[in-house]
Parts: sequence; structure tokens; C-alpha cells
Amino acid sequence: MSDTASKYEAPSMVPVGVDPTRASIARVYDAFLGGKDNYGIDREVFHKVQKVAPEAQDLAWSNRNFLTRAVRFLTDQGGIRQFLDCGSGLPTAENTHQIAQRIDPEARVVYVDNDPVVIAHGEALLEDNDFTHFVAADIFEPQKVLQNPTVRKYLDFTKPIGLLHVGTLHHYTAENGGELMQEYIDELPSGSFVAISHFLDPQTPGHSELARRMEDVFIHSPMGSGRFRTKAQLREFLPGLEIIPPGPGKPADFELSDLWWPDGPRLRPLSQVEECSAAAVGRKL
Ligand code: SAM
Repeated sequence: MSDTASKYEAPSMVPVGVDPTRASIARVYDAFLGGKDNYGIDREVFHKVQKVAPEAQDLAWSNRNFLTRAVRFLTDQGGIRQFLDCGSGLPTAENTHQIAQRIDPEARVVYVDNDPVVIAHGEALLEDNDFTHFVAADIFEPQKVLQNPTVRKYLDFTKPIGLLHVGTLHHYTAENGGELMQEYIDELPSGSFVAISHFLDPQTPGHSELARRMEDVFIHSPMGSGRFRTKAQLREFLPGLEIIPPGPGKPADFELSDLWWPDGPRLRPLSQVEECSAAAVGRKL
């Protein structure tokens, strides 16, 4: 679905259930990451955001790089051996199971997504060994995910689970996101972790304005969602959890995604867009 391939977007080339005239969250994200699994309508969203924020791709990379570090931390330090990855996205270079299984080859991952292209690719590419499985479900209906037979078969709800909601909740537009996450958290055993990254309104003069402009583009684009919430609003997504401090000496709170336990020292300042993505990991005691 690269620029060249898009010339051949004949109906027979489009997976069943995919409407190439409507942007999809997964394909737009792929376009932001520079992938090839997207259509012209998805790239249009990316280009519109680029007009207000030339470093728009950083929104996706801040998120994806956080996912990599968080899964490594949860597997290595948190001892997590089973993950429920909500909103897996299209398979890419470093997927959750590859990161976790590098530490423990038997770490289990159940991916959940509802995008037809992700479902088509996901079943083929994300289920690449006996310990990874894919479920087609709506992640904003927690009970449907939690009671799904595949989720129940492969995840042991008596042992700690890593619940990932990375780059997903900004597409949840209702105000009761805390209740939604509470439903997930209630089901997790003690010792489980929840990792979240999300578009941020940092409430600083220049960056807040940029966040609101990007939000306006997303919401009025053919994708139709992408909320930039404040840190206070994001805290509501981790009800009752102990937030892991995001770095040495830092308060236990959401932090800019790029500053959440970075891999090394920073040699360049954060871009304007990197100031508009936040992340946190919480533990259920
Ligand atoms: N978690 C991945 C990451 O951080 O790299 C992918 C994030 S991508 C921005 C969001 C994903 O959530 C997309 O693949 C999209 O299809 C999925 N998604 C959005 N709303 C969903 C819903 N209601 N049910 C299931 N998946 C959903």
C-alpha cells in the first residue's frame, strides 16, 4: 500500500471489510511510523497534522519507543510473563512478543485489535509462535476482551499480567475512561502492571496551543479521533494503582513518553511534538 502500490487499489487488492475511502487509526499510525500498510486517505491525515506540526511523526515514535522500553522493563524488572496488548496495531519491527520473548521465550502475549487490516495481518504475523495469540475485539468494551475465550485460555488470571493500553486511550472520546480502565484493573491479579501512553496537553503556553491544534486536525480528519488530555485527566486512567516513578528522583506520575526511563542521555532537546505525549506504568498492589 505504498505510493506505488496505491495505484493498484482495485477492489480485489483491498482486504475484505476495509473501506479505503475512510482513514483507520491503525493505518494512520502506520503512516506516521513511515510504514507501507496505509492508503492515500491515511497519509492525508498525516500530512494535515504535519502542516500544523512539522515533526508530527514524533507523536508515533514517542509512543512506540515507550512501548519497547515498558515491555522490556515489565518483563525484566517486573517479572511479567503474560501480556494483554490492547490495540496492538499493525505488526512492525519490534512487537510486544519479540521484546518479551527475548527475555523469556515462553512469555505469553495476547494481542487485541478491531481493525480489519490488523486482523488480516495480525493473525498471520503476530501469532508467530505457540505463545502469541490474536483476538479481534473492541478494546473499549472491557468485558468482551476479558471474557474472550482466547484471552481466558492463554492468560492465567491468577498470576500477574501486563496490560498494555499504549497509544489507544486518546481514541476513546467519552469522559468515563477511568471507569473503563477500572473494569480492566478489577480483573487483574495483584502484582499486575498497566502501561499507558497518550497524547498530552502539557498546559505550557506554546505546547498547549500546538496540542490543541493537532487535536483539532485529528478530530476533523477522516480518522475522527485523537484527544490531547492533561496529566490530571490521564491520572484517572490508573485508578488505585501505584505509579512507578518514571526516572531517578522523579515524582510517581505521568512523564513525557520520551523521558520515561530513556535508554541513554539526551543529546538534543525534545521536539515540540515530543512535548505532547505522556506515559506511565502503574502497579496493582
Ligand atoms: N499499541 C500500538 C503501539 O503503541 O505501537 C498501536 C497503537 S495504534 C495508535 C492504536 C491501535 O488501537 C490501532 O491498531 C487501532 O486499530 C486500535 N484500536 C483503536 N480503537 C480500537 C477499539 N475500539 N478496539 C480495538 N482496537 C482499537
